[in-house]
Amino acid sequence: MRGIVVSSELERLHLPRDCAACGSPATTRLLVSRRFRSGPLVSVPCCGDCWLRGRRWSRKFTNLAVAGLVASVVAGAVGFFVELRFLAVIAIASGAAALAAGTLLYLFSRLAAGGPGQAWPPVQIVSSSQASVVLFCVAEKWGNDLAALSGGKTLQDVGRFRRLSAVGIAACALLGLLVALVSWREAHALVRVDNASKVPLMIWIDGRRYQVIAPNADGAPPPELWIRAGRHELGYSEADEPTPRSRLVVGVPTTQSLYNPGRTACYWRLETVYAKSWFPAKAGTDIALERSEFYRLPEVDDWFRQSPASVQVSSTSPGEKRVALIRNKDCTTLVGFGCRESVLDELTACQKQATAEARFQECFETAAAACGLTRKDGSK
Ligand SMILES: [Zn+2]
Repeated sequence: MRGIVVSSELERLHLPRDCAACGSPATTRLLVSRRFRSGPLVSVPCCGDCWLRGRRWSRKFTNLAVAGLVASVVAGAVGFFVELRFLAVIAIASGAAALAAGTLLYLFSRLAAGGPGQAWPPVQIVSSSQASVVLFCVAEKWGNDLAALSGGKTLQDVGRFRRLSAVGIAACALLGLLVALVSWREAHALVRVDNASKVPLMIWIDGRRYQVIAPNADGAPPPELWIRAGRHELGYSEADEPTPRSRLVVGVPTTQSLYNPGRTACYWRLETVYAKSWFPAKAGTDIALERSEFYRLPEVDDWFRQSPASVQVSSTSPGEKRVALIRNKDCTTLVGFGCRESVLDELTACQKQATAEARFQECFETAAAACGLTRKDGSK
């Protein structure tokens, strides 16, 4: 970047008479002040041509920055109020990037001189105090004249001035991006969709097709959907069906939840308690969850896998508890064989009461018999 930085006492500040941008005779004056701060107002001589050109530049880049800002706000608002997929994050990020790019272009076009008369304004106040002022002059000759007339010093180091602006802009852009992402995250919730059926299912949200979820035969960690928290009507169908097979109105919590379209699976909630060696370990509890199509499960740490055998805890903590959610295989198998809901409800109730392995087996065999299945049909 071309230019020169001049520092002078305010009392002795004496500006050259020529245009500060191009050096030709000045016909008008341009007021410059510190951006975003109070301080002295300096009236800089300027020719008519430069004045007009400067106004055009300023207006063009102001429009660009405003357009970027509007785009960013609109993207942010859309992200907050409308049901969106993950792509929305990218849209919002683009809005913020547009804003940042517009602002950068705006400021750097002012700072990076392409020659006399192009950078605008031709004089900028870098810093000021009660007694002195530091000016950045785009035209070096004009700046040298200013220093000579005002008894001031010239400083060649203009890099710092530019760096500070760049850091400020980058910080603003990052902040904008962060705000957009955090507001999006706050407004949306993670819903896991476990499709235990044998065919791909189309998930419907509020009467609209949303996403196809592949069958999950072996209870692998299911896909996650980001859905705006609040009341929604969830539904499912096979991929090409014109309407959902079921409609379930639920309040999607801002925390975690699980949607099991068509109640094709059952689940265990497993609690694991970790203790340090000098604290006696308590046994965790395993609970067979009552069957439902939608589960609010804010506290689950491990989805569709057992909690690890050991965890790291801080030196002050006596231990830790983790909650895992896994498929209830006995029950899910019987769902696959088309068992009645009442039998499945009895099975989960029986599993909930049971403590010994033999009792779990009894629960399963009773349910299997009630569904008219012999033992070899099912699997533990
Ligand atoms: Zn001029």
